Amino acid sequence: MKIVLASGNKGKITEFRKMMPNDEVIAFKELIGEYEVAEDRDTFQGNAVKKAEEIYEKIQVLNLDEDILVISDDSGISVPKINNEPGIYSARYAGENASDKDNNSKLIRKLKEINLKNTPAYYTACIAIVYKNQTYTVHGWMHGNVIDKQVGDGGFGYDPMFIPKGFDKTLGELPHEVKKEFSHRSKALKLAKKVLEVIL
Ligand code: IMP
Repeated sequence: MKIVLASGNKGKITEFRKMMPNDEVIAFKELIGEYEVAEDRDTFQGNAVKKAEEIYEKIQVLNLDEDILVISDDSGISVPKINNEPGIYSARYAGENASDKDNNSKLIRKLKEINLKNTPAYYTACIAIVYKNQTYTVHGWMHGNVIDKQVGDGGFGYDPMFIPKGFDKTLGELPHEVKKEFSHRSKALKLAKKVLEVIL
């Protein structure tokens, strides 16, 4: 069976592969080439389901003689003090095709505008699984604080601005093994694995 990841985000693909070392995880592009799913739902769950179902349908058309399981992740960071921004817009906070650097700069600007040097924030991940025409979803969260600067160059996205609860360093400084222990994606994936145990 092939596990197809309905994401083009290199950071996520790398994390999924590290979290599922015993499975063959391939990016959807390896099967169907470039394809853009419009993330136009208003929840992480809505977007995760849309990505997984749309990619699953595209792959069905290929008529492969192997079972296919599609897994997607829609995730982002929310900062309560600024109306839970960027939330579902995390990947395109500074505009379509914005880089991680652009998005982080916008968040830093927003925090500085209201003099927030350090404020609570949380990551959300919704994982959707589509297998044999059925869809399943699970969620995971990671709480901590965001700061008004970037420290460290590890991880991806907002990691250099995020200090997980119980630590005094950003995810940009902490080793991947630490993030892997308790990240929103790891927690969601633990639940996703339970779903796989039942459906496979
Ligand atoms: P998505 O690909 O539409 O789900 O967007 C996810 C975006 O949320 C990423 O591009 C990052 O900006 C942010 N994000 C989600 N998970 C993480 C993480 O683990 N670290 C840092 N940023 C993340």
